[in-house]
Amino acid sequence: MEVEIGITHCGICHSDLHLIANDWGISQYPFIPGHEIVGAITASGADVKSLEVGQRVGLGWQSNSCGTCEWCTRGMENLCPLSEATCIRRHGGYADRVRANARFVIPIPESMDSAETAPLLCGGITVYNPLRTHCINPTSRVGIVGIGGLGHMAIQFARIFGAEVTAFSTSAAKEEEARALGVQNFVNNRDSKALKEMANTQDFILNTANADQDWGVYLQALRPTGTLCFVGVPPSPVTFHAFPMISGVRTITGSSIGSPHQIREMLDVAARHGVKATIESFAMDKANAAIDKVKKNKVRYRAVLTN
Ligand code: NAP
Ligand code: ZN
Repeated sequence: MEVEIGITHCGICHSDLHLIANDWGISQYPFIPGHEIVGAITASGADVKSLEVGQRVGLGWQSNSCGTCEWCTRGMENLCPLSEATCIRRHGGYADRVRANARFVIPIPESMDSAETAPLLCGGITVYNPLRTHCINPTSRVGIVGIGGLGHMAIQFARIFGAEVTAFSTSAAKEEEARALGVQNFVNNRDSKALKEMANTQDFILNTANADQDWGVYLQALRPTGTLCFVGVPPSPVTFHAFPMISGVRTITGSSIGSPHQIREMLDVAARHGVKATIESFAMDKANAAIDKVKKNKVRYRAVLTN
């Protein structure tokens, strides 16, 4: 059931940087990062009926799952205990070619640009899934913490779902661009007074930042029954006092990528509503320079390697 993809574009997700540094203790070397892939099918197993050689497709974080467990059969393959990641114990997308199970290889809508779409395959679905799961709608007030690759796509999806959006960013220079993407409010999250003043204002806060912060202040920024959801991975354990959860019945949760059918839906929504990544392109052999720029938080907003 595998296909081979001739890679044209691969986004640099911050998870690649975590894996390069073995932050999660699961990397194996030699290691080829890359899991926001767009390209064309170059070879296809005999049993693959759904895709054709030459077809333009995308591949994200996940490349395989068992296909038979409760989670796979419920269409939640991202929760399969035997899930295989595109660049863990497999060779990822900073390359010419990559292989994956055809179930995880998704056709790209014709109107979409390959380079601007590659980052949707991991970053895009990672923010789309929790906004959809938590039913974000025109009554919602949504906070996005960290306006990087994931965050700038989260702003766009939250806006097309109709929410009022607040960006929480350490980069004052991003305010104008965040407003152009649709945020109504911009808060400097290094300004503890400004953060405290956000108490009781948000229904849903999505953390996309990969850094430690005072998470209690974000919990306080939720209105009663609000939810703080982690997709970004801070290095240290996340701690809270129980009282704001108890008194305001607030929830803390997390979310992991999305399943193939959710990725198809996300791409369809992105194509119809014009959601795309703002990118900086680098030639594939300039991957190290691109990674350095991501590390310095200097990329606006996703680095994409091209072959
Ligand atoms: P990114 O493009 O580097 O953006 C991260 C953003 O975090 C930065 O742009 C910055 O935004 C903010 N930030 C950086 N340093 C900070 C600091 N010291 N304090 C506060 N904020 C800081 O990264 P990304 O590709 O969006 O990935 C973000 C995280 O999501 C990573 O941890 C990655 O592993 C994780 N991730 C998770 C999943 C999942 O399934 N859950 C999937 C993909 C990625 P400002 O400049 O606005 O402050
Ligand atoms: Zn990723």
